[in-house]
Amino acid sequence: MAPVIPEFEGLYIGGRWVPPAGGDRIVQISPLTEQPLGVAPAASNADMDLAVAAARKAFDEGPWPRMSVEERIAVLKRVRDLYAERAAGIAELITAEMGCPSSIAGLLQVGYPVQVIDYYVELCRSWEFEEKRGHSIVRQVPVGVVAAIVPWNTPHSTFTVKLAPALLSGCTVVAKPSPETALDGLVLAEIFAEAGVPEGVLNVVPAGAESGEYLVGHPGVDMVTFTGSTAAGSRVGSICGSAIRRFSLELGGKSAAVILDDADIPSVMQGLRFASFLNSGQVCTNQTRILAPKHRYTEVVEALCEMVSTMTVGDPADPATEVGPLVSQRQRDRVERYIAIGEQEGAKIAAGGGRPSSQPTGWFIEPTVFCDVDNSMTIAQDEIFGPVVAVVAYDDDDHAVEIANDSRYGLGGGVWTADVERGIDLARRIRTGQVSINGADNEVVAPFGGFKQSGLGRESGPEGLLGYLETQSVFCPD
Ligand code: NAD
Repeated sequence: MAPVIPEFEGLYIGGRWVPPAGGDRIVQISPLTEQPLGVAPAASNADMDLAVAAARKAFDEGPWPRMSVEERIAVLKRVRDLYAERAAGIAELITAEMGCPSSIAGLLQVGYPVQVIDYYVELCRSWEFEEKRGHSIVRQVPVGVVAAIVPWNTPHSTFTVKLAPALLSGCTVVAKPSPETALDGLVLAEIFAEAGVPEGVLNVVPAGAESGEYLVGHPGVDMVTFTGSTAAGSRVGSICGSAIRRFSLELGGKSAAVILDDADIPSVMQGLRFASFLNSGQVCTNQTRILAPKHRYTEVVEALCEMVSTMTVGDPADPATEVGPLVSQRQRDRVERYIAIGEQEGAKIAAGGGRPSSQPTGWFIEPTVFCDVDNSMTIAQDEIFGPVVAVVAYDDDDHAVEIANDSRYGLGGGVWTADVERGIDLARRIRTGQVSINGADNEVVAPFGGFKQSGLGRESGPEGLLGYLETQSVFCPD
């Protein structure tokens, strides 16, 4: 059955659906059919002014920051229940918008938001927002008006890991979805509205990069929480830095899968099916540099080629599909450009490398394996953000660590081994925000973020709540 594509005439500002000031529209294109999928209102700078003013008023005058935590929790719990009721339809919508295979959308796109809200609701129940230290009261107070900007690859998971801690701590938010997933952003607004979030507390304004940048620089914004590319994050950070505005950045990655010499290759391949190719390669932590011991290099390359040859590429709504189309023509152009650069620089395509002949329409790329890759090559250094992996040989464990750390990024990584303790020891030497052993999943209780150019700050866990809190000391007479 075709997914229901929602229709929206207005942006969600100040608790109302407001037609965009300039009448601008975003036409979303289906990555599968290359035809228009739906139309969403697009925010201009004037709309950003309205949204920030609404969030400002809700923070400065409204009840939200002064409500008890329990009252805010009650609203978020209603959001969670309404979200869970609509989750199946939302997963179908996100699949239609950006091509996420439906086989994983249930967890990756709509399962995680529910887990995130549950986690922060429980955390905030017992969180000490005030404590007595010496003769002082040390308070944790909301940072204020937050601008939340996210990309299209996991739109609701990325939004909720910002919205739940920000709203529970008493902040108000202007949320800017990506144009590619504007419609699901407005669905999120609908759910918050139905849950009874007071007017102005959450505003949802889909827009492109230009209005996004205007929002980042808006003097009414106290903090920017940004997820996206390192290039855009650098711009966001410099704007915020010059205004001394708080900010957090969740950026790109080029994570290494270190396959140790004791690893069982068939089980590693089962793991890399997800860890390297999740969401058709469009996940920031995907392990796209495969580090193989020199004496097992050929075995690893052959196993990878065999594995990708069994991956089902096709309509993302088909539950059998493992690799769907990329989000946009622009994204496929980018991936094809990197594949060409890989060949020019002397790497060899061991599998894939082209458009699948079975898919004449849609922005598909075959799952691709590059071998004979030196870690200094562009395809081993740049984030490609598609179903493309590069296999690099190493001599011993020290050399593997050196290569894994030879990156301007520091987001994720994996160690694959028969000996978990040995894997944990090696993980301790990798300079990235998270490392998984044998494909273990990330979880909301643990902080998530990047070293080096992969970001600043942490989301998830208690660290994710602290990002939305300022501390204030009140010195009291004895
Ligand atoms: P992008 O940086 O082009 O866009 C991300 C969002 O920022 C979009 O909403 C976009 O409209 C907005 N934007 C772009 N330029 C802006 C600017 N100058 N000022 C304000 N807003 C701006 O990224 P993309 O290509 O849409 O997304 C893919 C990138 O996101 C990859 O690099 C991926 O690694 C990264 N990502 C990181 C994480 C993480 O948690 N670290 C999670 C998901 C995606």
